[in-house]
Amino acid sequence: MSGKQRSLIDELRERGIRITPQRVIIFDAIERLRGHVTADDIYQEVQKDNPYISLATVYRTLELLQDLKLVTQTNLGRSQTFYALQGHGLHHHTVCTECGDIAEFEDALLDPLRTELRERFGFECHVEHMSVFGLCAKCRQKKAAEN
Ligand SMILES: [Zn+2]
Ligand SMILES: [Zn+2]
Repeated sequence: MSGKQRSLIDELRERGIRITPQRVIIFDAIERLRGHVTADDIYQEVQKDNPYISLATVYRTLELLQDLKLVTQTNLGRSQTFYALQGHGLHHHTVCTECGDIAEFEDALLDPLRTELRERFGFECHVEHMSVFGLCAKCRQKKAAEN
């Protein structure tokens, strides 16, 4: 978002989380890859440093980072879950089910929904990284032209 981003290791140390050598390698891989990655992408990257780290360890570490709110996950419509560092900024996605196009929209767009849910149902919304599925502008035009 803004300012200098601290490394995951600094963040975890500050919270008193044990930093194992395996975790250091996994955190490095996540930070190197940036953007949206799958557990498998992280696993491939980690293998370059240490081929003995298992995919299960990668998943466990991702769970830990999610619990600490340092990583968020979303479903971008493919069979795998995508992870992003929270420092990437709070945002959400539109995913076109026709062409697969993925775009980002800012969190503020959800504010009216948050307000309504709170006022009408007393419900507090914790949406961190959402994907909305539908048709992109291009595909809508194409469909309209066909009919
Ligand atoms: Zn995202
Ligand atoms: Zn499309």
